[in-house]
Amino acid sequence: MSAIPFDNSYARLPGRFFARVDPTPVPAPQLISLNRALAEALQIDPDWLASPDGVPVLAGNAVPPGAEPIATAYAGHQFGHLVPQLGDGRAILLGEVVDRGGTRRDIQLKGAGPTPFSRRGDGRAALGPVLREYLVSEAMAALGIPTTRALAAVTTGANVARERLLPGAILTRVAASHIRVGTFQFFAIRRDTDGVKQLADHVIARHYPAAAESRQPYQALLAAVIERQAALVAQWLCVGFIHGVMNTDNMAVTGETIDYGPCAFLDAYDPATVFSAIDEHGRYAYGNQPAIAQWNLARLAEALLPLLAPETESAIAVAQDLLAGFVPRFETAYHAGLRRKLGLFMDRESDVALAGGLLEVMTANRADFTLTFRRLGAAAADPAADRDVRDLFIDPTAYDAWAARWRERLAAEPRPGAERRETMDAANPAFIPRNHRVEAVIAAAIERDDFGPFAELNTVLAKPYDDQAAFAAYADPPAEYERVQRTFCGT
Ligand code: AMP
Ligand code: MG
Repeated sequence: MSAIPFDNSYARLPGRFFARVDPTPVPAPQLISLNRALAEALQIDPDWLASPDGVPVLAGNAVPPGAEPIATAYAGHQFGHLVPQLGDGRAILLGEVVDRGGTRRDIQLKGAGPTPFSRRGDGRAALGPVLREYLVSEAMAALGIPTTRALAAVTTGANVARERLLPGAILTRVAASHIRVGTFQFFAIRRDTDGVKQLADHVIARHYPAAAESRQPYQALLAAVIERQAALVAQWLCVGFIHGVMNTDNMAVTGETIDYGPCAFLDAYDPATVFSAIDEHGRYAYGNQPAIAQWNLARLAEALLPLLAPETESAIAVAQDLLAGFVPRFETAYHAGLRRKLGLFMDRESDVALAGGLLEVMTANRADFTLTFRRLGAAAADPAADRDVRDLFIDPTAYDAWAARWRERLAAEPRPGAERRETMDAANPAFIPRNHRVEAVIAAAIERDDFGPFAELNTVLAKPYDDQAAFAAYADPPAEYERVQRTFCGT
């Protein structure tokens, strides 16, 4: 039996969907981190992966039996501008496996060397962005948010030239698939309707089998992707996540969060927050994410037009109708998330205004998003704990005024305090990958070759909803001098 039980459906699609290309070997691979639980879920022996036989596979130095390495073709709108050809410029899909739960999943090496889609890039990844993606994607998974996963990270023993020389690394990424909105655009732009159709059929069979039962399978596909993106972005907002580069090539049609570049989490709440150094105009600001998701879905709808109805005019009407479903779906998911965060079980019309009122005073008072909600759980159980919440506001009385409204609302559905707190704690994480912590972990790895801080942060983030008293300091917001102002893709 092969060490990795590959079954590669994407490589069976027509040749114009991808380029066959092997990873380029690296001088001195070293395993930094292995996600043993994920390996087991994928039916791969973690001991083998960590062994002298497995590590070369994770570094691209050996192509395991059954793998069919390919770089996939895609296009995309980057910051609103169409780029007709992007594609995997530094990522190589080794193949797919069917996991323990029966789900087909991609195994991809990110940073494995040049491909025909590399354009001017070197096909490599620097250690910092690899560690960031590992930490943040695993944190998102632990938070319960759909995401690609990190199976392993290795250093390559070679440097990569960025603003300066940096250690090179490779991330082994696992995803339900790497098919993006931009993958559909690639074929649509070329007027390759047959390509769009074959891709849509592949996506339906693989990710949306219920759509195949519909009388209009492609309409059902678009509706289902819209539904998942609406739910995904609502979940992002509820934990303060900012993707940072929501280009259409960075939006997976599966509804998983993908392509962690200059992503970041809010500390102080402010919907206008932007961290990415390349996002000059704030296109991908925290609060813009729902609108951008809808914009990206409109690009998907355009690509699917020839499949939606026989005549263009009716296809456009269908697309517009389905796209109009985004906002109500997003709002339903987001408002339900906010109600959970506030400890509300019933759905009252005034709840949205109540939540909005809190977010407004948080913005005006630079209150820490994660801590405010986490501490509200304790305050729900015991009003004496209000002290710890109001401390987070520049003007604590602004919290008091809101808290009076909140308590009145809680009184409309009395629950034992402990029970309410428990449900709130399950919605309001204590631990998120705080930007200053992520930067510190990366610095330790790059400057001192010390991966201990990375491992510890990873451990803490695996249980975001537990208080973990021993790691309490990881819940703290940055001190003023620690505050991260800008994040970089590092590509
Ligand atoms: P990203 O900003 O990571 O979403 O990447 C956008 C596009 O640039 C994709 O087509 C990537 O494959 C490509 N790209 C990013 N970094 C590199 C690199 N170091 N070498 C080659 N291509 C790259
Ligand atoms: Mg990308």
